[in-house]
Amino acid sequence: MFSLTTVQHPTRDCTKPQVMLLDPLSGKRVIFGAIPEGSQRVSSERSTRLSKLTKVFLTGTISWKSLSGLPGMILTVADQGCKQLDVYHGDSKVLHLAFATWRYFVFRFGLKIQLNDGSSNDKSAFFKFRTVNVTKPETLESGISVFDFKFLKGLVSKIFPLAGESNQTADDAAVKQELPKASRSNVSSNYIVKMNSLKRKYVPELVKKYGLKKEDFQSLAAGRPAILQDGTEITLESVTMPGRTFDNVLFLDIPEPDLVGPTMNVNWFEEASGLCDSEQRVKFQLVYHFIDINAMQDPLQDSEYVKFIQSFGPHCKHVISHPKYCMDTLNFESASVITLKLRSLDARSAPLPLFDSCCNSISMENIYPLTSGQTFKILPFGETEMEKIWELRSEKGEEYWEKLYDDYVEPFEGKLESREAVLGLEEHQREPNSSLKDSVEITVLGTGSALPNKYRNVISTMLRLPILGGSTRVILDAGENTLGTLCRMYSPEKLTSVFRELKVVYLSHLHADHLLGIYSIIQEWCKVQAKTGGNEELLVICPDRFQNFVREWNQIEPEHIDLDRVNFVDCASLLMNRELDQQTAALVNRFGIERAKTCLANHCDRAYCAVIDFRLEGQSGESDSFKVSYSGDTRPLEKFIALGKGSNLLIHEATLQDSLYLDAIKKKHSTISESLQVARLMECEKVVLTHFSQRYSKLPELETVDKDPTSDVALKESKLCQVHATADPVVFFAFDNMNVTFGNLASQMKTFKRLGFNKIGQFFDNDDEEPNKRQKV
Ligand SMILES: [Zn+2]
Ligand SMILES: [Zn+2]
Repeated sequence: MFSLTTVQHPTRDCTKPQVMLLDPLSGKRVIFGAIPEGSQRVSSERSTRLSKLTKVFLTGTISWKSLSGLPGMILTVADQGCKQLDVYHGDSKVLHLAFATWRYFVFRFGLKIQLNDGSSNDKSAFFKFRTVNVTKPETLESGISVFDFKFLKGLVSKIFPLAGESNQTADDAAVKQELPKASRSNVSSNYIVKMNSLKRKYVPELVKKYGLKKEDFQSLAAGRPAILQDGTEITLESVTMPGRTFDNVLFLDIPEPDLVGPTMNVNWFEEASGLCDSEQRVKFQLVYHFIDINAMQDPLQDSEYVKFIQSFGPHCKHVISHPKYCMDTLNFESASVITLKLRSLDARSAPLPLFDSCCNSISMENIYPLTSGQTFKILPFGETEMEKIWELRSEKGEEYWEKLYDDYVEPFEGKLESREAVLGLEEHQREPNSSLKDSVEITVLGTGSALPNKYRNVISTMLRLPILGGSTRVILDAGENTLGTLCRMYSPEKLTSVFRELKVVYLSHLHADHLLGIYSIIQEWCKVQAKTGGNEELLVICPDRFQNFVREWNQIEPEHIDLDRVNFVDCASLLMNRELDQQTAALVNRFGIERAKTCLANHCDRAYCAVIDFRLEGQSGESDSFKVSYSGDTRPLEKFIALGKGSNLLIHEATLQDSLYLDAIKKKHSTISESLQVARLMECEKVVLTHFSQRYSKLPELETVDKDPTSDVALKESKLCQVHATADPVVFFAFDNMNVTFGNLASQMKTFKRLGFNKIGQFFDNDDEEPNKRQKV
């Protein structure tokens, strides 16, 4: 039978719901709801097979929050061999506009993307549907003319050229033509879904008994009785089992307060009548309510809304997606095991991700909270059965960490911290740092390359520096759902202060694994400024095309960014061989930056390596300077070594292990040995290695640090090795969720060496440890 599985309920790091409809016969999968950031990573954690995805029905309004996970997911399904994906939303014009804004960083051959307004059914699908749009009262239409619409359609097809259009390039798609101006989208989409009826089936025993022949079946199919040789009349009803029909399933989405009334006022039975056969009574068997906390504080305490629920009849089941009723469980449990292991070596090095297993329970009959893993089987004649096909361990609450500790950490003999310290039951104070430099904090928000993985998210690093007597935070690249990682790391109050300290965002290049999280970071920054009445400004250093994207997206976004407060600086204007204009120099100076320089990376077009000199200044007026070099993605680069000479901190990509140097050359990344050699030649004090290929999902090859660079095949050939390196920088391997000070970076390698790389390898890379053996969806 057909089934609907909740892939994710809203939590603090994946804030929107997603339900997957499965056809067991064809294996096809259809998503209803939202594709927020983190969706792909949730799929990886829960083993949902995205390659079979055929359709996405976006509910609610078009906003960055509801579909920011879509560009990354599209790139992934295309790589997995998906040939066609249909995306539905009632406001097709704005949907096209949304896709067109991605032309700077999304480009794939051979995937046919069809954007539909949902006004017509796909005859080949296993279900019928009806799109019901609810419009906010007193708002204007998007204002996209027929002419503009045609232009947008052309642009979207350039982003996804079919195989025949082989001379297209990503640059053709990203043409600098301006997009049509649009007002914010005012359409919220809801869907009524009805599974196709299953036809009458012949009962084999009866067919045999009467000896039915081909012509008899033809008569029966034509609605006539079959006449047997002895003259007996056989009717269709007498040799078949009755056909099976299904009732309707409704996906409601209420993202804003203005939409509560209009959604309740729709006559849903009348809307559904078109999907039913004439003799069938219109009924609903299951209704999903996706309700945002901004729209309603508590839908089940609202008597009008409860009446609305009851209007669907006593047999209809309801599923509520609302933060009051959905538990804030941990989505990335595999990654939390790694964090726990890191803490057993140094309890101060990585905070435990936050979650909250308390929420309101529902005591009304036939009403359920939306919960990950919950599956509703859609049975004929209006029957619906609920089961849980997987359970998140963190649903159990308090004991979660203790249980993980007992399973994965306790057996390890090398642990250095007490059980209490690892579980966070003991307060840990950092020793005060002896110098301003040593107090610089490095927070690792993601260390993966290319795709989000269950063990590590895509790349992002945050620095916290003492500047102008306070603290300044700098985010270097931010892959998808970097904001989600921050939300698990800091309590809401602490997160507000983190965003108040955030002054600089740097984007190295326009690859999805580096940029998809940045829009949300800027959006959250604006929200915090508005909430706290701050009048700060933000500095965003990025390739110019990213600025275009932000401006274009911002016009369709209900929760828009205050662009007057965001200062964009093009990475190209900071190139080392260019003279910096005074205005930009003065601007970066205001943010505590003495000098910011870039050079073109050896990676892709418009990719940069950056070197930034910060002017540190403590509370009592003491001052110092701090030089940070950040590679972004690149092959080892001489001009970057020259530019970053004598850096205090180098953060370098180390995508591949040494044996895969041919891959590194082909894909224009660096190996671990190459990155270490760059660090030595740069004569930097300390180097943080990050951006690891997801093929070593838990642990990169640590042994490389002790390798003689002259013995490395790739280095032997290169110029890098012919120069003698005198420096021996402190090496630190980045792991997701780590928070360390510059002064403390050396302690990791000391610990690793004391315990031995072998032992550490076994501890982290133990493959039979899956926090949840789950049924595949
Ligand atoms: Zn990358
Ligand atoms: Zn890249």
